[in-house]
Amino acid sequence: MREKIALGYICPACGKSVIGERTAFAFSAGVAGLVCECGESELVSESDGFHLRLTVPCGVCGGEHTARVEARRLFDGGSIALSCPERQQLCCCIGEEGRVTAALRQLQTAAEKLRGQAEEEMFADSVIMYEILSELKDIAARDGISCACGSRRYRIAVRGGAVDLICGACGGRLRIGAATDEDLDQLCCRYTLTIPENPAGRDER
Ligand SMILES: [Zn+2]
Ligand SMILES: [Zn+2]
Ligand SMILES: [Zn+2]
Repeated sequence: MREKIALGYICPACGKSVIGERTAFAFSAGVAGLVCECGESELVSESDGFHLRLTVPCGVCGGEHTARVEARRLFDGGSIALSCPERQQLCCCIGEEGRVTAALRQLQTAAEKLRGQAEEEMFADSVIMYEILSELKDIAARDGISCACGSRRYRIAVRGGAVDLICGACGGRLRIGAATDEDLDQLCCRYTLTIPENPAGRDER
């Protein structure tokens, strides 16, 4: 019989992977819970001696799923992977430590991708945001975005109703409104964009 059993899931609240280890005894006693650092989610394992009833916070769909698994399978060295029934994607893994860690690593990458998609969906209905971003792409394509500090490295941060261009060298920031038709008109008549230098950011280097 295996002594320690690893378990892990992705916290739907903060997106981090939560991994822990409990003894087989804790599992059979029904006290093998696992709480995320952020305190917002908890994997609960209850036991009736033969089965474990798991309540798993799902980092894939943001909901919570329950599953009933045979306790023996875990105690005898097997691993169990649970999938989100909504999205048919792995959301929890219990068993051998190496397998759980590997599964969680994959899972976190997948969850981050999904989050990215969700954000895109959020802005997809904002026609203005879409137009602003494609306009920025055009300006960037003709190398028209630079910082007053001389750097041409920058990143784009999308906010609700605005886009920030942030200089990669000095941290200077140019906010571009992305909420109204005027915002779009204003951007369309710009051939180049200059991020104001952040003098404090430069001194730090
Ligand atoms: Zn969390
Ligand atoms: Zn789910
Ligand atoms: Zn700069």
